[in-house]
Amino acid sequence: MDLFNQVSHGTTLLTPNSRLSAVLIQQYSAWQQLQKKLCWPSLDCLPQNSFIARLWNAYVIQQPNAQPLLLTPEQEQIAWEDILRHSPENEYLLQLSSAAELAKSAWHTLKLWRVHAENPHLKTTEDAQIFQTWAAAFEKKCAQSLWLDSSSMIELLITQIEKNSLAIPKKIILLGFTEISPLHQALLERCQHQGCEVIYNTITKKQRDIARIALNDADSEMRTMARWAKAILEEQPEARIGCVVPRLEDVREQVIQHFSAVFCEENTFTLNHTTLPFNISAGKNLASYPVIHAAIHLLKLSTATIPAEVLSSILHSPFIGDAEYEMLNRARYETLLRRDNITSMSLQQLLENKLTIKNHCPRLAERMRTVLDSFHLRHEKKFASGWTHYFIEQLNAWGWPGERSVDSHEYQAIQAWLKVMAEYTTLDGILTQISYQQALYYLIYLTAQKVFQVESPAAPIQILGMLEAAEIPFDYLWVMGLDDSAWPQSPNPNPFIPQRLQKKLKMPHANAERELQYGIQLTQQLQSCADVIIFSHALKSDDAELRPSPIISDVKAITLNDLRLADFNPITHSIFASQKIEFLNDETAPAIGCDEVVRGGTSIFKLQAACPFKAFAELRLHARKVEPPALGLRAMDKGEILHRAMEMLWGVLKDQTYLLQMPQDTLDKLVEDCVDQAIHHIAESTANNRRYLGLESQRLQRLIHQWLDREKARPPFKVIKIEEERKLTIANLAITLRVDRIDELDSGRQIIIDYKTGKTHPNKDWFGDRPNEPQLPLYCTTDSLKTCGILFAQINSEEMKWKGISGIDLGIPAVKTVTEERNTDASSWQNQIENWQTILEKLATDFAQGKANIDPKEDPQTCEHCHLKPICRIHETITENILSYD
Ligand code: SF4
Repeated sequence: MDLFNQVSHGTTLLTPNSRLSAVLIQQYSAWQQLQKKLCWPSLDCLPQNSFIARLWNAYVIQQPNAQPLLLTPEQEQIAWEDILRHSPENEYLLQLSSAAELAKSAWHTLKLWRVHAENPHLKTTEDAQIFQTWAAAFEKKCAQSLWLDSSSMIELLITQIEKNSLAIPKKIILLGFTEISPLHQALLERCQHQGCEVIYNTITKKQRDIARIALNDADSEMRTMARWAKAILEEQPEARIGCVVPRLEDVREQVIQHFSAVFCEENTFTLNHTTLPFNISAGKNLASYPVIHAAIHLLKLSTATIPAEVLSSILHSPFIGDAEYEMLNRARYETLLRRDNITSMSLQQLLENKLTIKNHCPRLAERMRTVLDSFHLRHEKKFASGWTHYFIEQLNAWGWPGERSVDSHEYQAIQAWLKVMAEYTTLDGILTQISYQQALYYLIYLTAQKVFQVESPAAPIQILGMLEAAEIPFDYLWVMGLDDSAWPQSPNPNPFIPQRLQKKLKMPHANAERELQYGIQLTQQLQSCADVIIFSHALKSDDAELRPSPIISDVKAITLNDLRLADFNPITHSIFASQKIEFLNDETAPAIGCDEVVRGGTSIFKLQAACPFKAFAELRLHARKVEPPALGLRAMDKGEILHRAMEMLWGVLKDQTYLLQMPQDTLDKLVEDCVDQAIHHIAESTANNRRYLGLESQRLQRLIHQWLDREKARPPFKVIKIEEERKLTIANLAITLRVDRIDELDSGRQIIIDYKTGKTHPNKDWFGDRPNEPQLPLYCTTDSLKTCGILFAQINSEEMKWKGISGIDLGIPAVKTVTEERNTDASSWQNQIENWQTILEKLATDFAQGKANIDPKEDPQTCEHCHLKPICRIHETITENILSYD
C-alpha cells in the first residue's frame, strides 16, 4: 500500500477522527503480515486532537512551574455562562445557555481562523460588539485564574515548537481531512519549519461503480439500505460495508429499529444487539439511559409538590431500594392515590397525610424520611466536590440503583456516570461555592453533554455519520439523505461574527457558497471510499416534495428493482402469519361457592346485563380500571358531591312544607353550607385548588336552587328515608342496596328517587331483558306493595328534569304511568314489578352460576369505554395484515 510505504521511523499519521485511525492501524498490521513480517513497530496513527493533546501533555511534563488549567469543553461552557450571567445583557437573554454556547463557538472559530477578538472588523455589528466585551471578560478571567481554552492551547504549542522546546515527529502524514483550519495549518507549518516533513495524503480507488436511487421517504431509505447491506453480507461475508446517515445522532433510534427489523427477519439474527452484524457509531446522551434518568429525577425531588406522573415513576422505579420487595405494595398504593385523584403531593404529605405511604410501603417511606431529613443541607453553599458527596449520599438513601442486579448496559452507564461525577468535582477549579440548584444544574448539564455508547463487538456493517465516513475504505458504501433540502447543508453563520467577515474568511457554515463547496468536497471524498457506492435521497418529507441534491444529480440513476433485493418479510409478519388459532369455548366460570364472598351490590346486575364477561372479570377477578389522575374534580367526584349535599339538605328540610315555608336567605345559607361541607369532604385532597373549588361550589348551589324549584312544584311529599340501606338475597347472592331517597306521598304510597348528574333514558335503563340501570327496579321489588313509582332526579346544567315511571299519576308532568308508557292495561304496575323480578333473578342466577360469555349488550357502544378489551380480546378478529413495505 502506497501510504504505508511512506511510513518510516518517526512518522505520525494524523486523521480527523478516531474511527479512521483505528481502521488504518488495523490495515497496517495486515499489510505488515503480507510482507511476511513477524514483528514491526506500532503505527503512530491518531486523530489530530489526540496529537495536540499529546503535545500538551509533553509540554506540561517538561515545565517545572505550575501550568494553566486546560479547560474541558464543559468547564469552558460553564465559564462562558458565568460571564454572560454577570453581564448587563443577561436581562435580555432568553436562553443563557444557548447564548453562551454560541459565544464559545464564536471564540473558537475566531481563534481557529486566527482573528483576534478585538479585531476592528468585529465592530461592524451590535451583536459582535457585545461579543467583544464578553470575549475580553473571558480572556481576563482566563489570565487571572490561570485557565487555558483548547484553541489558545494550540497557539501556546506553536510558540513552544518555535522555541524548539517540544519534540515533534520527523514526518507527519495527514489523511482524510476535508478542511484544516488556519490555526491547525499554522501548527503544521511551524512543525515543517522546524524540520518535520508534512504530507497531505488521500486514499484513492480507481474503479468505482456509483449510482443514485430515489426512495419514498427517509424510513424507506433506511430500510432499503439495511436490506441492501444484508443481501451483500449474505453473498460476501467478508465484505466491508458502510452505511452513512446524515444527522445520525438525531435518527439513531429509527436506524436501529429498521436495521434490527431487517436483520431479525426469518430469525437470521436474534434481537440481542451484541450478535447483530452492524455497529452504529452514534452514542446516546447519558441522561437518556433509564438508570441515570432515574438518578437525576431523584436528585431533583425537593420539598415542593410532586406531580402524579413523577409519584407514579417513583413507585414503579426498579432503581429505588427495595423495589422488588415492595413491588406489589407500591403498585397498590398507586391505585389508592389514583382512586382519590391525587394529582400532586409533596414527600412530606406522602409521609403524613391520612393516606400515608408509611402504612403501605414502609421501606420506601423510611427512605423518603432519610432523604427529607437531609434536605436542610441544601440551604448551604458548597464547592462542586462537596455537592458530589451530597448527591451520592442522597442516592444511597434512595437505595439507587435498586436491589436487583443491574444488567451490562446499566452497569456501563453507571460507570460512565461515575466518571462524569469525577469530572464534576474538577469544577472546584472554576466555580466558587454554589447553591444546590446551581450544583444540580451543572451536574445535569455535564450528564447531558456526555454521549455514551454501550460497548459492542466489531461488526462487518458500519453505520456512520457523514464526517466519520470520509476516507474510511469500504467495499460497499451507501450514503442516504442526499436530497436537495439537506445536501449541501443550509448555511448557519454565527450571529456574533459579522457575516461579511465569515464569508471573506470562508468560516464554517458562513454562506451557501461555502456550504456547496464543502458539500462537493465531502461527496468526492465519500466517492473515493468504496468500489460500489449508492447515493440515495427521499422523494418526500412530510408534505414537501424532494429532488436529488444538485451535487449528485449527474450520478447514474437506478431503481429499486435494479438492486434485486429479496422480498422483505418482517419478523412480526412471519410470527403473525404462523399463527394457529385454537378455539376453546370457555364461557362458563366456576359457580360461586358458598365460601366465596362477592361484593358489588347492584353493579352485579348492571354489569351482568351489560356483558357477562365484564361482570365476571370486574367482580370475581377484580380486574378493575385504575383511573388516571385528572386535574380538578372528576365526573364521579362531582356526582358524589351532589349526592352528599342533597343528603345533608333533605336531612334538614325533611318535607316539602318546610321547604316552601323557609325564608329565601335561610335556604340560601343552608344550600351553601351543605355544598361546602360536601366539597370539603369529597375533595379534601384537592383542597389546594381553593379558587376552583369555590367556583364549583357556586355552580352546584345554582343547580340545587333550580332543582328545589322543581321539588316545590310537585304535589306534597315527605322525605322518609335518605341513603337507606336494604339487604336482600337473590339467587343465593347476598346483596346490599342503598337508595338515595324515598318520599312518602299524602296517599301513604312511596316513590324511590335516584339522583343522576349524567344523562338518563328510563326506557333503555329500566326495561328489556338487560336493563342499564337495574338499581331502582331492584329496590322496587323489595317492597312492591308500598312503592308506586321510581324516579330519576336528573340534575345537570343541560337538562334539569324528573324522569320516571309509576303505578299511579304522581302529578309530575314528565312522569308517566306504566299504562301510558308501556301501553298496557291498568294492573300493569304489579305486572311490571313481577317482570323485573324475573329479569333480575335471571341475571343474578347467570352470574352466580358463572355465566361469563363475551356478549356486549350493544356492540360497539358497550365496549367503547370498557377497559377489559386486552383481557376479553373482543377485537381479536383481525385476520389481515394491513402493513406493507417497499
Ligand atoms: S370490551 Fe366489550 S366484550 Fe369485552 S368485557 Fe368489555 S363489554 Fe365485554
